[in-house]
Amino acid sequence: MPERTHFKVVILGSGPAGLTAALYAARANLEPLVVEGTQPGGQLTITTDVENYPGFPTGILGPELMELFKKQAERFGTQYAFGDVAKVDLGSRPFHLYFAGERTLTCDTLIIATGAAAKLLGIESESRLMGYGVSACATCDGFFFKDKDLLVVGGGDTAMEESNFLTKFARKVTVVHRRGELRASKIMQQRAMDNPKIGFIWNSTIEKIHGDPQGGGVTGVTLRNLQTGATSELATDGVFMAIGHTPNAKIFASQLEMDAYGYLVTKKGSTETSVPGVFACGDVQDRTYRQAVTAAGTGCMAAIDAERFLEAEHHAAATPQPHASQQRS
Ligand code: NDP
Repeated sequence: MPERTHFKVVILGSGPAGLTAALYAARANLEPLVVEGTQPGGQLTITTDVENYPGFPTGILGPELMELFKKQAERFGTQYAFGDVAKVDLGSRPFHLYFAGERTLTCDTLIIATGAAAKLLGIESESRLMGYGVSACATCDGFFFKDKDLLVVGGGDTAMEESNFLTKFARKVTVVHRRGELRASKIMQQRAMDNPKIGFIWNSTIEKIHGDPQGGGVTGVTLRNLQTGATSELATDGVFMAIGHTPNAKIFASQLEMDAYGYLVTKKGSTETSVPGVFACGDVQDRTYRQAVTAAGTGCMAAIDAERFLEAEHHAAATPQPHASQQRS
């Protein structure tokens, strides 16, 4: 944690959005501080191969990509602070950021790049067995399921990617999807369909996960067919949730405008939030694209928006206000 307690720009979050904002803000001599958050590097640090980030024709490992982002921003003077901001006060400037301990920072502009977190089904057995056979991160936990039978819940790209990845370890992976058709892109669907270790259960949801955290973890699930309403039991060794994400924006509730899903609202074509001087970029304000490259793009926009905001303010302060008599002419 740096000695200074006031910054022109503080960036919350260290994924592609936050680190790109840092790179641009640092190159604009704004000496930004990045608060890395509880998951430094963001969601890409829990994936394996990233095949769709331009400039890497043979792909790159997620953690490696984020290390490169970090080094590049550091080269131009970005400072980093570990940990998470627990509370913010955006009511007046400078903005106040409160860490879990005693520490408080202030800043002239704030760039929010706090990303999103994996969504869960919200059933009791899921939280009871989380870490004991229930997971939301195949790349983190797949290794523990060698030759096991697994379920993956979801029908999007994440579900397909995680299923494919899990077949490196598991004996069989079954995708449980609530509809009869997948949401995933055609190429990801095809990869999963072509994988002989992957099977599908359609129009179904998991109603209950069975097992004992102290007694070997997950043993099976109760499934409900959403078309017939019928329930059935299925034995499994693990359940991976891949049903999308929730924006990490709770600490801004009641201070910044949010949409019905809890995503921060930004002005069209800009990263401005409802509070002047506060900008948002990446997954915390993007329900549609949610890609590393779009996050990086909006991170760049946020730094430019913050720079222009500070510049305009500086210019206004330096320009003498005309007298009333001059204004009339
Ligand atoms: P999506 O929102 O695309 O998909 C979520 C899936 O989970 C949907 O199939 C949805 O069902 C299902 N779902 C949601 N809530 C529930 C629930 N409560 N119970 C049961 N099922 C549920 O999220 P993803 O994380 O898959 O993808 C997010 C973005 O990231 C996408 O833009 C995707 O393209 C991208 N991505 C790209 C990758 C790549 O290119 N390598 C890899 C991973 C993600 P339904 O379809 O019925 O809505």
